[in-house]
Amino acid sequence: MKAEILKRIDEIYEKRDTRARELRAEGKKIIGYFCCQVPLEYLTAVDLVPYRILGSVSEPPTQGDFYVESVTCGYIRSCFDLASKGRYDFLDGLISCRSCQGIEISFDLWRYYFRPEYAYNIDVPHKVSEWGIKFFKEELIDLRRDIEGFYGRKITDEALREAIELHNSSRRLVRELYGLRKEDPPLISGPEVMKVMVASMSLPPDEVNGLLKRIIDELKGTKGRLEKRDNRILVWGSIIDAVPLVQLIEDCGSYVVMDDTCVGSRFYWPDVEITEDPIDGLAKRYLDGIVCPRTFRDNPGRSHKDDLEHRFAYLKELVKDYKINGAVLEITRYCDTHGWEVPDVKSYLEDLGIQTLFLEHDYSAVALEPLRTRIEAFMETF
Ligand code: SF4
Repeated sequence: MKAEILKRIDEIYEKRDTRARELRAEGKKIIGYFCCQVPLEYLTAVDLVPYRILGSVSEPPTQGDFYVESVTCGYIRSCFDLASKGRYDFLDGLISCRSCQGIEISFDLWRYYFRPEYAYNIDVPHKVSEWGIKFFKEELIDLRRDIEGFYGRKITDEALREAIELHNSSRRLVRELYGLRKEDPPLISGPEVMKVMVASMSLPPDEVNGLLKRIIDELKGTKGRLEKRDNRILVWGSIIDAVPLVQLIEDCGSYVVMDDTCVGSRFYWPDVEITEDPIDGLAKRYLDGIVCPRTFRDNPGRSHKDDLEHRFAYLKELVKDYKINGAVLEITRYCDTHGWEVPDVKSYLEDLGIQTLFLEHDYSAVALEPLRTRIEAFMETF
């Protein structure tokens, strides 16, 4: 039987812009953002509503392709396509970051063609280092000034600290929700978590927290709702912002019990440390805390094996905590950022005794079916 709260999640997932449109009708400003490195705390601190820009794997692009190069990842093409059809007409502003070249191009195109009343592109260093964090802090100071100047609302340290606490609560609750996947069988399936993630990136943070608390409370008492399956899968890779790929992996006889993707744990995992100057905590968390292949982690003078340990030790923890015995490494076609990382992630996981399957897909639900045979064959190797 489906828990009541999961029906509510289905509704939000199916029409994720409903609440944002309501809030806008009440006079709130809705700010769209790309990627994991936009500090949402700034928006919350001045009562702006953050809204993650996502694409649609179910709707083939019909207009976006006129503007975005065909060798750009399907996610970016889809987002632009939806925007050109007016699906993002409720956004009052856009904040993006220089995370990958595709997102970079996307920001310029959005600003040029859709002319949002507010637009800012955050310069995020590509390397974690002392200087990188200092540079990023300066960039966040500029962003703070820019938002204050444009909206005429001061982002005080006190409001920023409160916003950090609120977003840290969301992060704690998401980690608690993911904890339900450690059970065998898990208390929540991969597609259900995917829907919760999409819903949580479509609502203001106080509403996200209320929703997450309800989900956790209701699901804690549902042991035995899901059948037992032996294969417990980690999905690592490019953005997945809809159910079909995760559903396909589970339909082939497994549970996706953990993800390392950007509409998932990568977005939520580390907290922001509350520091005397709150921007120090934000700069550290959003550059060093988010482990995404777009950011290089230098470890000079060490062997390749040491380097892999330095970069991927967190995966060892996930494998142990979530009792993972297989990993699907997926990339959206033309996502070089993740493609370059695959050989090292694969080698690291296989050294831990974890079987891996590499999949390249087209960010399209209908184009997933040919992958079924490969996933089924992979599941039979356990
Ligand atoms: S999927 Fe890859 S190319 Fe596309 S936005 Fe994400 S990192 Fe960039």
